[in-house]
Amino acid sequence: MKITILGAGVTGLTLARLLLQDGHDVLVLESSGEAGGLCRSSVVDGFTFDHAGGHILFSKDRATLDWMKERAGSDSLVETERRTRILWHDRYVPYPFENGIASLTPQAKFECLKGYLEAVERRKGGEPCPEDFHSWILWKMGKGFADHFMIPYNEKIWECDLREMSSLWVAGRVPDAPVDDILKAVSGLETRGYTHQARFFYPRRGGFQALTDGIAEGLGDRLVTGHEVRNLRRRGGGWEVDGDPTDLVVNTIPLPVLAEVFEGLPEEIRLECAELRPISLANVLIGCRSDRGLDPLSWIYLPFEDQGPANRVTFFSNYSPENAPEGHVSFMAEVTYRGTLETGKEWLGDLCRALETCGLFRREDVVVLHPFHSRYAYIDQNLAFPDRIARLRAWFDRSGLLSIGRFGRYEYHNSDQCVQRAFQARAHIARLAETGDDLPLSLPA
Ligand SMILES: Cc1cc2nc3c(=O)[nH]c(=O)nc-3n(C[C@H](O)[C@H](O)[C@H](O)COP(=O)(O)OP(=O)(O)OC[C@H]3O[C@@H](n4cnc5c(N)ncnc54)[C@H](O)[C@@H]3O)c2cc1C
Repeated sequence: MKITILGAGVTGLTLARLLLQDGHDVLVLESSGEAGGLCRSSVVDGFTFDHAGGHILFSKDRATLDWMKERAGSDSLVETERRTRILWHDRYVPYPFENGIASLTPQAKFECLKGYLEAVERRKGGEPCPEDFHSWILWKMGKGFADHFMIPYNEKIWECDLREMSSLWVAGRVPDAPVDDILKAVSGLETRGYTHQARFFYPRRGGFQALTDGIAEGLGDRLVTGHEVRNLRRRGGGWEVDGDPTDLVVNTIPLPVLAEVFEGLPEEIRLECAELRPISLANVLIGCRSDRGLDPLSWIYLPFEDQGPANRVTFFSNYSPENAPEGHVSFMAEVTYRGTLETGKEWLGDLCRALETCGLFRREDVVVLHPFHSRYAYIDQNLAFPDRIARLRAWFDRSGLLSIGRFGRYEYHNSDQCVQRAFQARAHIARLAETGDDLPLSLPA
């Protein structure tokens, strides 16, 4: 088949590579000057940085991880033990917060434990799982955990009142905190959350983009960058993309962008797509002179407003020594926003002042400050989102066009899950090619 893939992020590139292996005639169209999407990296004044915040290579699925490691260059990966902390007022608390409560003040420890046990009681009494995220936090973790970390941190990253956010997205993303673990944690016994991320990999050179560069190897002129798709429409039994006929289209670009260029898309679907409002990210590279290196941390969370606008700071030169020039270190600070955000000199100065107050570096040592914006970074998980996205996926899955990827399907996926989706789409396309039928796309949950 002749197959046109819209977007060359990790999803589109993986699928292109697989379909080429299967003997299809593949074309990937990417609007940006370089492939990689959210996995892209750049070098600024000798400092390597990832465009969309520090990316780490990990997966719960061994085969997927091995495939990705091979693409990123197995023998040139740096393996690191994940060390993450929350900067909680005057001290570092291990992350996840519920595993780190031994480090809190006695009063905060008491409030977290009391609230947690009350929540367990209420749940045992049959209190149903709430629909909104704010109530879910109280229901699941109790008032102490909510007030001391979960609510301020989540309000900062999601940029909204958590009562307007659905609780459904947390299933599977936030690990369960059994009573035993909380009691152990409060007693100071070691417990660990997110064990599948306990160690992670990162390319020694080239930033996280070394992964997508490796995946793209061999695509040659089948990958066309600098081509913004402006028109998509049906043509006979197939499709036409910017006037070029093709048998099948696989979309990985954000649905609201797709809806703008999809000629003949039913009006109600177009309107629903337009309601998928992006949460954007400004990721700021901060390069500093240093003769003592960085604390051995991977990243820290900054949950409180008085710590400035960043919700997370990655200790990026710890990922690979080649991320910063000799005698220097680098951080990346992530700030989420809705709509627009001016990241001019004054804003960058305020950000740096706040991070200096947090004790991360001295402003006089900063030699590079470089913001990068990703318009589509996080999914707005508002209360209407679960039903809306179910309707949209159902429509697109029957449309004959395959739509996959973080914003092509609106799944809160990491790059490994995008790779898995590409493998599943490949299997679906093999069935289409074999049967010649217009089968609806069906993907495992
Ligand atoms: C802050 C943050 C941290 C993350 N951390 C990690 C991590 O540590 N580890 C991890 O594995 N994953 C991480 N992820 C997730 C990971 O970045 C994504 O899951 C993955 O990159 C999504 O790939 P994709 O191909 O689906 O989409 P994208 O990367 O968004 O690719 C879509 C492509 O479509 C292109 N496009 C858009 N419009 C058009 C058009 N009209 N015509 C042609 N092309 C177009 C875009 O330029 C883009 O290249 C993180 C994400 C974020 C936001």
